[in-house]
Amino acid sequence: MRRVYLDHSATTPVRPEVLEAMLPYLKEEYGNPSSLHAWGREAKKALEEAREEVAALIGARPEEIVFTSGGTEADNLALIGSAYANARKGRHIITSSIEHHAVLDSARFLAKQGFRVTFLPVSGDGLVRVEDVAAAITAETILISVMHANNEVGTIQPVGAIGRLAKEKGIIFHSDAVQSAGKIPVNVDELGVDLLALSSHKIYGPKGVGALYVRKGTRLQNLLHGGAQERKRRPGTENLPGIVGFGRAAALARQEMPTEAERLAALRDRLLDGLVARIPATFVTGHREQRLPNHASVCVKYVEGEALLLGLDRQGVAASGGSACTSGTLDPSHVLLAMGLAPEVAQGSLRLTLGRENTEADIDYVLEILPPLVEQLRAASPLYVREAAQAVTCPACQTQDQV
Ligand SMILES: *Cc1c(COP(=O)(O)O)cnc(C)c1O
Repeated sequence: MRRVYLDHSATTPVRPEVLEAMLPYLKEEYGNPSSLHAWGREAKKALEEAREEVAALIGARPEEIVFTSGGTEADNLALIGSAYANARKGRHIITSSIEHHAVLDSARFLAKQGFRVTFLPVSGDGLVRVEDVAAAITAETILISVMHANNEVGTIQPVGAIGRLAKEKGIIFHSDAVQSAGKIPVNVDELGVDLLALSSHKIYGPKGVGALYVRKGTRLQNLLHGGAQERKRRPGTENLPGIVGFGRAAALARQEMPTEAERLAALRDRLLDGLVARIPATFVTGHREQRLPNHASVCVKYVEGEALLLGLDRQGVAASGGSACTSGTLDPSHVLLAMGLAPEVAQGSLRLTLGRENTEADIDYVLEILPPLVEQLRAASPLYVREAAQAVTCPACQTQDQV
């Protein structure tokens, strides 16, 4: 059976070059970067080289990169760290209703600690409106957090415009760029961010490592306590093999981004156009142009997304419903609900995210197996049978037909 992995927004395979780069640091180069001897110095050198590569991916200076255990920790540090450090200036935070749970749940945690949080709505195609951000700002606002690209529907947010607004008002601006970095250009100065979250395993690096970009001069309270590593912002002995892998992955992503983005966008369009053309009552979720080059998401009406995923899995295709973090529960995605979709429609959401290994033949395989699978599921769906029957028998429709 053909096997097709189309869940790169959930995670990506470690590239062979990345694994190669990591291996010495799991074997002979086991020094602690804080040690003063030769082993330590060698480790420290590797750590700083990786920092330079990660910084280069986002147009930052190496000393502005804080390595963390992943995107989730980076988001937590950005929100909770900057809220605590600036609580005396004000206690109001603005974010969007379509953030990853790492941001949403950090914001909810802060709300319980006495901060006031505004969760901005989004348009039908999943975009935050800059006017809404402007209207939400008060004298008490200390932090704005809006993601760069959404993991569920792939929309690219107007982060640059929000950054200019935040700067004008002297408000700290954080953006979760876990999905965008390495896929589209990310430059901290052009985006106007003070804080920016990254994750290694979304760009063909190992899991359990990420980074927070912290613009020089940005006040941040530590989440963890216990050492002077990472310029005292994140104590604990560094995950050196992971960080080295992350650095290599960042370097490769930077080199290959222009050509790879173009290749993926062509595959994505073939997939989206094919799905909408071949499956009745199916529509693209998220903005058609303002979206990640590797991201295809649709809603297939009158089917359960879970059933669709299981059917695809049986035929060797890995896809996802909403985000990996919400699948396994039957709650419709908070992102699709925020975009105004009815819960029963949002249940039929399907996310197919492409990556380096995917080819045109993979896309054609999905386009071949998915339409019959949907048809089969719909035939067994009481909702679909009833709606189809109503369309035929409802007197109003018949009158209309006759006119
Ligand atoms: C995956 C993801 C995260 C979490 O990153 P981890 O490294 O898995 O903790 C945060 N934000 C977005 C948008 C993501 O897609």
